[in-house]
Amino acid sequence: MQKLGYSTEDVAFREEVRTFLREQLPPELAALEAQHSHLKRRDTDPWQKLLAARGWAVPNWPKANGGPGWTAVQRHIWDVEYGRANAPEYNIIGVGMVGPVIAEFGSDAQKAYFLQAIIKGDLHFCQGFSEPGAGSDLASLKTRALRDGEDYVVTGQKIWTSHAADADMMICLARTNMEVKPQAGLSMILLPMDAPGVTVRPIRSIDGIESINEIFLDEVRVPASAVIGEADMGWTYAKFLLTAERTHNAYLGMLHRYLDRLRIATAGLGPAIRRRLVQLEIDVEAHDWSVLRVRLGEDERLGGASASALKVTASELLIRAGMMEVEALGPSALVETDGRTRALSDWVNRAADGKMNQLLYWRAATIFGGANEIQRSIIWNTLAR
Ligand SMILES: Cc1cc2nc3c(=O)[nH]c(=O)nc-3n(C[C@H](O)[C@H](O)[C@H](O)COP(=O)(O)OP(=O)(O)OC[C@H]3O[C@@H](n4cnc5c(N)ncnc54)[C@H](O)[C@@H]3O)c2cc1C
Repeated sequence: MQKLGYSTEDVAFREEVRTFLREQLPPELAALEAQHSHLKRRDTDPWQKLLAARGWAVPNWPKANGGPGWTAVQRHIWDVEYGRANAPEYNIIGVGMVGPVIAEFGSDAQKAYFLQAIIKGDLHFCQGFSEPGAGSDLASLKTRALRDGEDYVVTGQKIWTSHAADADMMICLARTNMEVKPQAGLSMILLPMDAPGVTVRPIRSIDGIESINEIFLDEVRVPASAVIGEADMGWTYAKFLLTAERTHNAYLGMLHRYLDRLRIATAGLGPAIRRRLVQLEIDVEAHDWSVLRVRLGEDERLGGASASALKVTASELLIRAGMMEVEALGPSALVETDGRTRALSDWVNRAADGKMNQLLYWRAATIFGGANEIQRSIIWNTLAR
């Protein structure tokens, strides 16, 4: 039986990470992140460059692609310590999804240019998959990319596109072949957001944040070299990307950040909420181990279903943690850090630091990356095979 716990090297690595975060993470950036965790590129770019200089900007990438080449346990330590230090997410679509897809399927020219640009934070991405009427049923999407000489001309509409206003490029799923079954005719295209014909319109969500957007694509011209890998193979690449997204959405750091906060928020409260905190700690620990097992490749038989399971569990744990925090803080969950109480009618309208707003955002975690109902179907279909 394998011995549980960190090796001496792992403990030394954890100390190295803690020291780095303590000495290098700007306190004002950590304070900003602790308020809502939805920072803009202007806030996070300098931090990403600092991480890039250290070789730690893309913790999920192998060494061959410019990552640190950490073991699964080191990656786990990084995620937990990073979240607990209130260090921010950055360039999440580029680092978490686009980079791995280009590394796996992109041309040599795409790899040479995009991987380094993502590492350094020079290029930020958004993910243009969902459309009105094509979310869960993604393969029914209608955006078309028609071949015209050496170019493709892209026309259609995307919706719920996160971070689009901060993005230089979209990884766009579009139909390039109308003659075949829906999944077979899609391509994945790297589309510049400043190209003529691209319009971005923000959508304000219930937590008061404007990070999701509608995007209108009106005859946007891109060169054929903007297609990742082969044309019409986009569905295969999209499945790979969504598995990376769902594994990323395991939210280890955020959950451990919540546990730290809840230990403080529930101190001195009654036994009922303290008991629930202990149960939450146990469930987060079980989730930790599941993530570790997936990263160690122990889930080979389950394919993408294990990523679906991590995504469902993480989103539900985040809501539980958020609910407990609001319950423990009571009216203070609506209070800004400078101490002013926000009027009830006001708090839904503002990007705020009230913990209630953060909780409202986690409801969306049961939807983005593929709704939890769909993930449960994927898990069942895999297990029933
Ligand atoms: C905050 C946020 C950020 C997002 N960011 C992005 C992004 O950056 N890029 C992007 O492309 N998309 C993004 N999305 C979109 C997200 O991927 C879709 O919302 C999601 O896939 C669900 O699609 P839908 O909204 O069209 O809902 P629908 O597919 O219409 O589903 C509505 C409801 O019906 C249920 N349902 C649908 N079909 C079935 C079925 N077969 N069996 C059982 N239940 C079913 C769903 O589970 C859901 O509860 C984001 C969404 C949110 C909320």
